[in-house]
Amino acid sequence: MTSIKQKDVIIIGAGASGLLCAAECGRRGRSVLVLDHAPRAGSKVLISGGGRCNFTNLNADAGRYCSRNPHFCKSALARFTPRDILALAEKHHIAYYEKEAGQIFCVTSSREIMTMLGQECRRAGVEERFGVKVADIAKAEAFSVTTDAGVFRSDALVIATGGPSYPDLGASGFGLDVARQFGLAVVPPRPALVPFVFSARDQKVFHELAGISLDAAVSCGAKRFRGSVLFTHRGLSGPAALQASLYWTPGEPLVIDLLPGTDILEILTAKRRSRMELRNLLSGHFPKRFAEAWCDQMVTSKPLDQTSDRELKETALRLHAWKVLPKGTEGYATAEVTAGGVDTDELSSKTMEAKKVPGLYFIGEVVDVTGELGGYNLHWAWASGFAAGQYA
Ligand SMILES: Cc1cc2nc3c(=O)[nH]c(=O)nc-3n(C[C@H](O)[C@H](O)[C@H](O)COP(=O)(O)OP(=O)(O)OC[C@H]3O[C@@H](n4cnc5c(N)ncnc54)[C@H](O)[C@@H]3O)c2cc1C
Repeated sequence: MTSIKQKDVIIIGAGASGLLCAAECGRRGRSVLVLDHAPRAGSKVLISGGGRCNFTNLNADAGRYCSRNPHFCKSALARFTPRDILALAEKHHIAYYEKEAGQIFCVTSSREIMTMLGQECRRAGVEERFGVKVADIAKAEAFSVTTDAGVFRSDALVIATGGPSYPDLGASGFGLDVARQFGLAVVPPRPALVPFVFSARDQKVFHELAGISLDAAVSCGAKRFRGSVLFTHRGLSGPAALQASLYWTPGEPLVIDLLPGTDILEILTAKRRSRMELRNLLSGHFPKRFAEAWCDQMVTSKPLDQTSDRELKETALRLHAWKVLPKGTEGYATAEVTAGGVDTDELSSKTMEAKKVPGLYFIGEVVDVTGELGGYNLHWAWASGFAAGQYA
């Protein structure tokens, strides 16, 4: 007969939120088992921030998160602030720096963050098992987790399996399946912080611009993001485009201000009597290849002294509000996060526990709370993991 192992808390997912939660539970004297199907912990943390882990943002507040209930994340964010994760990093002698706009990165490597989490878990007596496939979860008095390494029982079960983006790293939709199994509503998941794919027509015209990046402002509905936009072979990437993807719904146009902070109409008007062609003037503001391709598609480039006031105004308008209708995004394969997830109405904002299923907790990216680019997603993983860690 196979023996059944009993723990106070089982956490499925040894990523950012799962390990922080495990350390907190262990510190409270709970016996904790962390299970992960991957061969090692924290694959996403390791590659995050280009290997330097942008692990928090000094500006982390509810305004930086996309969720059906924008208030849900406030409580957890208030109880575990950027200062708290920085204090933990300092305790582990991790050198960090602020890159821009509050983004905090490791000076050396994201590996240090994983070492920190590993040490915190060890000190708290947490048991970790890797390469374990969960076949079934059931609840009677306690939770029973059937795996290819045996059956485990616990009073509390924490789901910290993240979202399905970057499947190559072991990401899965497992957490959402567990939520559905227990009758919890799920906000439809979708890839976010992901490059856009142009329509076939735009791809034909702009693919030759691959590699060119511009300082621009990308708007999607009421949200506007200033930053660089990178042309790829298939569409648009770069921080400003990735940010916009978090708020984008299929069929919606992006509006791109190609010259944010510059009054191009004033510049065009000042050159009103010049024989210079528009494409040459724009080559002073953009890479030449872009100026030419954009002019070919959007306007008739002729000498400015042959251009009417109406045409100048129209050109300025197009430069400040270039409308692009993407065909879609590159999808989960390259999405930094998954938006949507377990509906926050189903969870306590104080504990992350499912209201309908006592003892079942959801933390991190699997919850319908998705941060903008810049350290906000890892901060949500810490904050939600910490919240559940006080109660599970
Ligand atoms: C390329 C890239 C770069 C990123 N850079 C940043 C950044 O710099 N800053 C930032 O804030 N965010 C960044 N993110 C996002 C951030 O990594 C995630 O939002 C964060 O790791 C989510 O934490 P989590 O604990 O919810 O899930 P994860 O950290 O993804 O951990 C989930 C764990 O669950 C395990 N798991 C999944 N399915 C199962 C299953 N069926 N059974 C058992 N275990 C399972 C996985 O193996 C994994 O170990 C980046 C993401 C990517 C893909």
